[in-house]
Order: sequence, then C-alpha cells, then structure tokens
Amino acid sequence: MWQRGVVENERCGCGEAFGACDFWQQVGKVAFGGWDQISTDRVVALRAAVDRTRRIPALSRRALPARLQAALAEYTGYYLGVYRAIAAVSGAAAVVDSSKHASLAFCLARHADIDLRVIHLVRDSRAVAYSWTTSVARPDRSDPPGDATSPGGTGGGTRGGTGGYMTTYPPARAAGHWNAQNGALQLLARRGTPVLRLRYEDFVAAPEQSLRIAAGFAGITADDLPVGTGAADGQSRWARLSKSHTASGNPMRFVTGTVPIRGDDRWRTAMPDAQRRTVTALTLPLLSHYGYLGRAA
Ligand SMILES: [Zn+2]
Repeated sequence: MWQRGVVENERCGCGEAFGACDFWQQVGKVAFGGWDQISTDRVVALRAAVDRTRRIPALSRRALPARLQAALAEYTGYYLGVYRAIAAVSGAAAVVDSSKHASLAFCLARHADIDLRVIHLVRDSRAVAYSWTTSVARPDRSDPPGDATSPGGTGGGTRGGTGGYMTTYPPARAAGHWNAQNGALQLLARRGTPVLRLRYEDFVAAPEQSLRIAAGFAGITADDLPVGTGAADGQSRWARLSKSHTASGNPMRFVTGTVPIRGDDRWRTAMPDAQRRTVTALTLPLLSHYGYLGRAA
C-alpha cells in the first residue's frame, strides 16, 4: 500500500487509482490528516530497517536493541493508524491485512495495541514453486510488459515485480522462500502469537468450513458467508466477490461477481520432474509436517 498505492498511485481493487479512491482517501484523512501529511519515504526506510526476513531472529527475541525498538515502534505506529482508520471508515469489527510476509507479522506482534491474529495459509510447496515459475501480467501497471525476469501465478507470497508482470523465482529459490516464510510463522506461534494454520487444498475442498474456522479465530460472526456449493451438481463450489479496496496484490483481486472455486493442480502434470524432485527434497520436513506426502505426490 505504501509504495504501490500512496507513492505510485496504482489501481485499487475498486478500479480507481489509489489517489482517486474515496475509501483510501478517507482512510488517509482519518489516520494522518491526509496521505500528504506523512512521509512515505520514511515508512519505506523504516520497513527496510525492521521489516525484513533477516530481522526475524532479532524480532523474535524478548528484548530488542534500543535503536531497533525505536524504529519498530515508529514503523508499527503507522500501521496502527491505518488499521484504526480502516475500522472507523468501514465500520468493520476486524481488519484483514492480506499482506503475506512473515516479517511484518513479527513486527506487528510486538505492538501492545494491535490484537494480532495470524492466519497461516499453507499450500503444497510444489504447487507454490510451479506457480512462481509462471507469468501473470499485472493489469494494475500501465507500463508494457518487457521485464522477463519478474512475473507470478496464483498463490504465493506478496508479489508484484517492477515490470508489467508479477515476480517469478526459479524453483530452488521458491523452495527456500517457502521454507523461510512457513518456518517463520511456526516460530511466531511458538512465541505466543495466535496463529491458525489453514491449508489451501482444504479451503478448496470445503470453503465454507474453512471460512467459519477463520471467522471464529478472528472473533467475528460468520452468518452469511459468500460461498456455496453448486445446486445442480452438489460438487462445484463458488464464491461471490464484491468490489473491494485492495491496495495491491494478485490480478485476480479485480474479479467480482460469482466465481468458481477450483484448486489449481496444474503443477501435477505440467511441472518438470527435475524441478519437482528438487522442490520436494528442499522442503521435505515441512511438506511432511503439513501432511502433503503420502497422497498422490
Ligand atoms: Zn478503492
């Protein structure tokens, strides 16, 4: 949001540019008296100082060095301001931050006024690695695609390369990233932050059940969930997506209406054997821990 929304004015999920979206303009006003009242350079610099995967070991310790503590307090203070403003403007009881880097969760966990609960969504590492090797254009960027080194697919980390495509990683690097992010969220749970682990595959099989579990974990009611099962066949599943104000993320966030929920299993047939073996070997301990081995793997 800071970089792609406030600074680069990319498109919000509602279709407007960030600077033209009423919702985000109100949030900026309530939080800071307007986005132009804060220095996003400052936020971005603080992020570079504290919100990094390599900072996780330090962030997980009881006591922080004074300088890191000061930077962290300032950095998470910006987030608290935004979350409170989102709650005020939307009237929502809970705010979902759909960003995916574990390091931000470690930062937020240290703020006493943020009641942080983390949903740890895991997916088979082979599917994630395969997805990271494929390209998806980013319609929220107006510049033409041309940077072949940046792209993405469905379901991975927070992406968005600098070109017209989402970021891609080679399989071994994707495996390392998968291990680091998942391992970090397990560490966060051991340090006392409430963490709910859900599997992508279980969500696809029973979305309503997964959403009920997630809502209960977040402490919000789930009476009327926008998901269901196809009436004709009793098998197919769908979600009803309304317009949303996502500040950045996967291009699928622009889709609204009733959409089918389908597992993306392309990796099972399309992923080259050598890549699959590499990723399986590199991610074996957690892959096994999450129950992904022993099926048709
Ligand atoms: Zn919007």
